[in-house]
Amino acid sequence: MAYKIPGHCLACDTCRPVCPTGAVQIKDNHYWIDPNLCNNCEGYYSEPQCLMLCPISCPLPSESKKGRYKAELRPVTSPSLFANGKNHPFASSMVMWELCNLLTQRQSLDWKFDEVGEPYYERRVNGGRGMITLRMSDHSIGELALTGIQSFDIRAACMHLIYAAHATALEKPWEEEFIISDRQIEEYLELDKRKDLSKATKLSLIRKIAEQPCFITGSINWPKQGKVNKFLIVNSPLWHLTEVQHHFQEDEMGCKYLVGLTFKIKAGIWAKYFLNQQGCKEQTAFYQYGILPQSLLSIVMSIWQQHEGAVRMMLWLLFKTKMGKEQRITVPKLMRVAYGEEKLTFASQRREERKRLLRTFERDLECLNHYGLKPVFDSVTYPPEIQPLWAKLGELPDDADAALDFWIQDGSNETRITDASPRGKWNLLMNARILWFELPVDWEQRMKTPKQQQRGTQTRKIKLKPEMNLLPEQIVTARKQQGMSQRELARITGKSQSWIRDLENGRLSAKFSDQTLLRKVLGLNKNH
Ligand code: SF4
Ligand code: SF4
Repeated sequence: MAYKIPGHCLACDTCRPVCPTGAVQIKDNHYWIDPNLCNNCEGYYSEPQCLMLCPISCPLPSESKKGRYKAELRPVTSPSLFANGKNHPFASSMVMWELCNLLTQRQSLDWKFDEVGEPYYERRVNGGRGMITLRMSDHSIGELALTGIQSFDIRAACMHLIYAAHATALEKPWEEEFIISDRQIEEYLELDKRKDLSKATKLSLIRKIAEQPCFITGSINWPKQGKVNKFLIVNSPLWHLTEVQHHFQEDEMGCKYLVGLTFKIKAGIWAKYFLNQQGCKEQTAFYQYGILPQSLLSIVMSIWQQHEGAVRMMLWLLFKTKMGKEQRITVPKLMRVAYGEEKLTFASQRREERKRLLRTFERDLECLNHYGLKPVFDSVTYPPEIQPLWAKLGELPDDADAALDFWIQDGSNETRITDASPRGKWNLLMNARILWFELPVDWEQRMKTPKQQQRGTQTRKIKLKPEMNLLPEQIVTARKQQGMSQRELARITGKSQSWIRDLENGRLSAKFSDQTLLRKVLGLNKNH
């Protein structure tokens, strides 16, 4: 059981240095014990040191806090993200992407060491004319630095994205701070729904992952690009954590309980070059942003332990898919993102390891698919014979007659979808490509400026007229009238069969451009 310090403490500071876990803390000259750090001295001493050495035996065993006590006033925070309940713009420049990669891929990245043994990770940009270099801000060296890199929590990438989203709400994010509270973070990450975690555990987790993105500095050597002149940034923190405020409640004995945290954060100087609206208008800087879906944060928070590879791919794709639809991502590239170069090389040399990695990769791809990031396999390099079984079964029609036809047809083929993988599957996969990932709607929906929103209201009124929107049953009827199977329609439109099936089931709604394409292929005029 953790200890607590009541109000009659003399503030003599005897207990703080002797605490083996660093649990005794000071706030505004008041001593308090962090219940997440205090372990009753177990494993260090047979008796609690704070109690044993305190001149007035002040520390008391702590019981769980009951009822509400006097609370401190908290500072006003920045407006919360995700006002539309779905997504929010976020700074998505290469620097932000690389920091996200670092926090998710950690030691799997290609770290190099400088002459004093300090590790750094560098990424060439703009066709090799520029360079982004990231380092640990504590300038630790050798093994110690690698241990620090390894200890990054993948969930810290969520905090990095939250900061990147808050920064877009500021006019000059490199000069202005934003303020976030633990309550906002709990909501963004859906920790408020986690009844299995105590408040103290949540606060401890929030503090840990809120600090980690601020442990990295970046050097950016950017070449002249268009009208934007070249620039150089040397070893500057990417996020400044300027202040962490602790908020307490006090019981009748004067014991303080930590009940909240507030973080003040400022973007690094990179924002002046990559998140500068005015500079972008004047063509002296860039304003690069993407769309951060809130659902992505909660997915990461729920699957990071079982599907780390899927989380790595998902966060990488958040930036990658921003760059246009046809991505043609190779399987080795995706595997490097998900598992690192070392594991890939190891697997290519050992059969058992290869099998294991393949199984994990297919499971992680299935996980992406489950959360709406549907891979569209290149039929030439990634044919059905080497596709995962779940993807092949995804093509199975819902309609019972059509499904029967499907299995009859499958049975008459030389190879069947349930056949074991062909020999040399690994080598084939090393040349296989995924054309693109179909994205969930909240990944693609752009935020509108207030002006656009006003216009959007009118446009929406027109667009949402039922006779203008393509309904699932219209698609089914028109497709059948044309004598087309779902598979054929998928082939003609360049989509996957599962996408067509989801549309027909009403699980998905097609974007305007896709509706136009479907109308054209199915011979539907706009009034249908
Ligand atoms: S009981 Fe031990 S671990 Fe807990 S605060 Fe006291 S000295 Fe630290
Ligand atoms: S708890 Fe005891 S030892 Fe610690 S500061 Fe207070 S009086 Fe000193």
